[in-house]
Amino acid sequence: MTNIILLGPPGAGKGTQARKLVEERGMVQLSTGDMLREARTSGTAMGRKVAAVMDGGGLVTDEIVIGLIEEKMKGSRGAGFIFDGFPRTLAQADALGAMLKRSGQRLDAVIEMRVDDEALVRRISGRFTCGNCGEVYHDQTRPTKKPGTCDVCGSTDMQRRADDNAESLKVRLMEYYKKTSPLIGYYYALGDLFTIDGLAEIGDVAKSLAGIVDQQAVS
Ligand code: ADP
Ligand code: ADP
Ligand code: ZN
Repeated sequence: MTNIILLGPPGAGKGTQARKLVEERGMVQLSTGDMLREARTSGTAMGRKVAAVMDGGGLVTDEIVIGLIEEKMKGSRGAGFIFDGFPRTLAQADALGAMLKRSGQRLDAVIEMRVDDEALVRRISGRFTCGNCGEVYHDQTRPTKKPGTCDVCGSTDMQRRADDNAESLKVRLMEYYKKTSPLIGYYYALGDLFTIDGLAEIGDVAKSLAGIVDQQAVS
């Protein structure tokens, strides 16, 4: 079991790399963004509450996200967890530490994916995903082989997120710097932090990540 956190601003490539680790290693991706998007389509009161916050680019309350993560962790089995987009606040980081401890598990590595703001704007504005299988694409850097058709599952249901616009990205980036970036210091102090160059090509980022995961798996 290797449990890792992918830490980085919106568009850093966390989801893209998490999916690779799932496919290649049988790890379990826990994306709070995906869980929240699922919740908002469920028509529940909680779903309605989170929808407005997400569209504005703000963070959903710690209580809601921690509850979602806790539930998913209990119901999942695999070769370790990849926390993708969680934790995003110090309170969430503390809660995750406590949850892992309670279940007799540990955090093996927190991997900070470093990408500059200018590149993030390009990444976010070109992002689209397959509505059927969730594969992540980009207009320039990772287009589908056949326009409008998913390489993985053949679906033609390509989607763009409502919050993937320049206005919302500004708010999301500010939220990242104010509330999430302190986690870099937090995990550094715990001795869990690794930093990789998220600006490299997808395959090269994957190699750096694999190196860290392999190293942690034996240690
Ligand atoms: P995050 O989950 O961190 O928000 P994504 O994995 O969704 O980021 O990636 C954001 C966008 O950038 C997507 O369109 C994805 O295809 C593209 N992308 C991801 N990694 C890279 C990379 N290393 N180089 C170029 N584009 C990338
Ligand atoms: P990105 O691809 O931009 O990193 P995510 O898909 O991870 O975005 O998250 C989309 C939105 O969902 C965030 O802007 C925020 O509103 C909400 N969200 C996701 N994860 C969390 C979290 N851990 N805490 C609070 N809000 C979250
Ligand atoms: Zn697909």
